[in-house]
Amino acid sequence: MVYNFAAGPSVLPQEALLKAQAELLDYAGSGMSVMELTHRGKEFTAIIEHAEETLRELMHIPDNYQVLFLQGGASTQFTMVPLNLAVGKKAYYVESGSFGKKAFTEAVKLSHFIPFEPISLGSTESQNYNHLVQFDASEIDSDAAYVHVTLNNTIEGTTIYELPDTNGVPLVGDMSSDILAFDYEVEKFALIYAGAQKNIGPAGMTVVIVRNDLLTDKEILSSMMDYRILAKNHSLYNTPPTFGIYMSDLVFEWVKAQGGVKAMAEKNLKKSALLYEYIDSTEFYKSPVINKNERSLCNIPFSCGDKVKDDKFIEQADRAGFKNIKGHRSVGGMRASLYNAFPFEGVEALVDFMKKFEEEND
Ligand code: PMP
Repeated sequence: MVYNFAAGPSVLPQEALLKAQAELLDYAGSGMSVMELTHRGKEFTAIIEHAEETLRELMHIPDNYQVLFLQGGASTQFTMVPLNLAVGKKAYYVESGSFGKKAFTEAVKLSHFIPFEPISLGSTESQNYNHLVQFDASEIDSDAAYVHVTLNNTIEGTTIYELPDTNGVPLVGDMSSDILAFDYEVEKFALIYAGAQKNIGPAGMTVVIVRNDLLTDKEILSSMMDYRILAKNHSLYNTPPTFGIYMSDLVFEWVKAQGGVKAMAEKNLKKSALLYEYIDSTEFYKSPVINKNERSLCNIPFSCGDKVKDDKFIEQADRAGFKNIKGHRSVGGMRASLYNAFPFEGVEALVDFMKKFEEEND
């Protein structure tokens, strides 16, 4: 028995894996694996349509939004978003974590090739991103293309729970690490994107949810970069990540069976509270996040405040079956990623292990 605390690719629901296993060699009587099905045949068409329908239901996605299943990871969206939305305009970025910084950095690179102006609304990098950037809506030019935020900072363990005032400018959200784990209102966003490999499915698929009015005609944009063309072709402009979409569909069904996104968020709150309560109760472990109301439900970094102890913790934890609990290489320490499919018992077992380690090493 192992508990997988990886930040992504990460733990998937066993029910979904078992279903995939049962269907692996013969999908729905086709005599083939999903991996072998043509993406234009009736079986795969039914899969992708069902995946979209279920995701729409789970996130209450309004009809005036398109749902795209793409490739290239969330990182490709750092370029696609400005390419599609920002030409000739200003675009604001909030840098509350490493991925927010990456999004801004990619936008700055792109601005040397196409005319638009990326502007940072602030960064907490000099404080190791230990809290979220606060900004005033009056700083934002109301003609701007968008304000880009990272909803959950996977590495640093902070989350935006209250969406910011953007002075009426469209909000773009990188929801990679808390999509389906916290119930955001889709209509508050102009565009949402998320890599699948945390709360959705295997790596290789990226979800983009984009409001129709942003899909304007862009003759010169390459087709694979153009949301409008990808949407017109229902994510089938080229060969999509078929097996990833199938697995994601199984996970969407699982989330639905768990009671939906609100129910998932409640479970995630209970799981994370158990760990935070323990961390708060002892001097031995420390959380780097300074504001309790910004602490993530999904990614919980902590440390013993001493590299030797942290390394020992990680090694002993690994031997005890607590896998991938090492923090991101950029910050060190430990990180427990408690995504939707991570069980409550796993957090209880981790807290027991942490208590024992504290007794032996304090
Ligand atoms: N944004 C966030 C918030 C992430 O956590 C990650 C991946 N950990 C990325 C972007 C990059 O995603 P990908 O590896 O799918 O490009």
